[in-house]
Amino acid sequence: MIKIDAPLAADDDAYLKKLCGQQPWPPHHVLWQMAYANYRSHKGNPWQVAPTNFIPDVSAEQTDLYKSRSSSPWIVRIRHMQLQSCPMCGSSVTGSVDHYLPKEDFPEFSVMAANLVPACSHCNSGVKGRTFRGATPNERFLHPYFDTLAGKPLWLTRIIPPYQAAQFEPTPIPGLSAKNSELVQFHLRHVLGPQFHRNAANLWATYPQHLRDEVEGTGPVSSPRARKEIARSLRRSISTSGENSWSASFFRGLLEDEDARKYLASAARPLKATPLPP
Ligand SMILES: [Zn+2]
Repeated sequence: MIKIDAPLAADDDAYLKKLCGQQPWPPHHVLWQMAYANYRSHKGNPWQVAPTNFIPDVSAEQTDLYKSRSSSPWIVRIRHMQLQSCPMCGSSVTGSVDHYLPKEDFPEFSVMAANLVPACSHCNSGVKGRTFRGATPNERFLHPYFDTLAGKPLWLTRIIPPYQAAQFEPTPIPGLSAKNSELVQFHLRHVLGPQFHRNAANLWATYPQHLRDEVEGTGPVSSPRARKEIARSLRRSISTSGENSWSASFFRGLLEDEDARKYLASAARPLKATPLPP
């Protein structure tokens, strides 16, 4: 979850104009341009933007436009945008493109730059599938180009005991408005798949060793010392991967959870003094 500058409206309009100079698109230009303007004025919000009916029906041809243009330089640029983490889910992987409004339901936006967001392969391989909204108007995805919310910390990972076989629950941070909390909750529920849980389990399993390595001495690691190190790990995650990356969410969750910290500190076992060879 990252806020990125939106593509220029003028560029999208110019591309559409060029496209509509070719058959079979000229008769659809005006309606199509109105759909683009509507998307931008409602920031892609699927509760305010409805699919446009073109007559005759050209939805299949519009959907196919993306396939035939997916290696265009400007789409490749979106795919390979230099980012700290995936703008949709926060994983450390990037290199893919996702349609904010799915092209199967909104074929008119299949090649609209404002609807093409850089994402990771997990996001693009279909955790969210064709879901684009939930049951209430606050249930939709955060839009990396239009939701300024993503510039602030939005979520943390709760660690659910028993700690020997911990489970991980992505949760909106306390203090968000009810509306934003619902939005973030919906987003998390639909973008985070099994890969997120495996990554959290790996961080959880390896962190005691990290504590052991970072804390000077061979004695037990105290809970306050573990807290200090976790705060350092959080700062490092934010600076390298962003406020809403998987790792920042994990360490933010740990900072809120004294029991989990105590468990990790106790799991960082004291080292046995190894006698020097004679
Ligand atoms: Zn992703």
